[in-house]
Amino acid sequence: MDQEIFGKVDHYISQMLAPEDEVLQETIKSLDTAEMPQISVTANQGKFLQVIALMCNAKRVLELGTLAGYSTIWLARSLPEDGKIVTIEFDPRHANVAKQNIKNAGLLDKVDIRVGKAMDIMLEIKEAKEEPFDLIFIDADKPPYTEYFEMALSLSHPGTVIICDNVIREGKVLDENSTDDRVIGVQRFNKLLASNKNVTATILQTVGVKEYDGMAIAVVK
Ligand code: SAM
Repeated sequence: MDQEIFGKVDHYISQMLAPEDEVLQETIKSLDTAEMPQISVTANQGKFLQVIALMCNAKRVLELGTLAGYSTIWLARSLPEDGKIVTIEFDPRHANVAKQNIKNAGLLDKVDIRVGKAMDIMLEIKEAKEEPFDLIFIDADKPPYTEYFEMALSLSHPGTVIICDNVIREGKVLDENSTDDRVIGVQRFNKLLASNKNVTATILQTVGVKEYDGMAIAVVK
């Protein structure tokens, strides 16, 4: 087994089950045009997020890390007429590119892009006593994943699903001596996930067109 077969099978699945329409293809192209990194979720992962959103009847979704809005569009497309996704992005340039892509997708009414640091904006949401979220997707900077998750719990209700991307990092999480702050961040987070009594959780390894990684999935008790 190697990366080549994982990539080919990823294409096989996405052609059948997660074909990208023009809006999603243009969103991926917009990253190159704006010289932004190609670090969106894959098409199959976008579809996976959609399936999870439908499984938990998500009406209110919170996303940390918008980038160009690729995962936001997949998620927003799973929402009912009166559904909403709040997506937080630190970089105003990324948020502007995302806004244009979300506009092209005809989803501006369902997407609330908030520009700022994820932790600050989550705190604002908490203080404003906004309704809890049904699904929370954590895909921003990795070092504070533990703090993001703990704050996400305070914005949840029993049954809320919390998904955290990139928690395996090509297996580097096995290296207890890693000095990479992203690896250390997800190692801390994975330990918290294992010991947290308020959720039932697991981690799925992810392979495909992108590097080998993993997504944590937790359901709030
Ligand atoms: N979810 C996106 C997708 O799949 O299309 C990809 C998100 S990308 C992996 C991470 C994003 O998080 C980047 O756009 C980055 O600017 C943003 N980010 C980094 N640190 C952040 C922070 N402290 N608060 C909010 N966003 C942050």
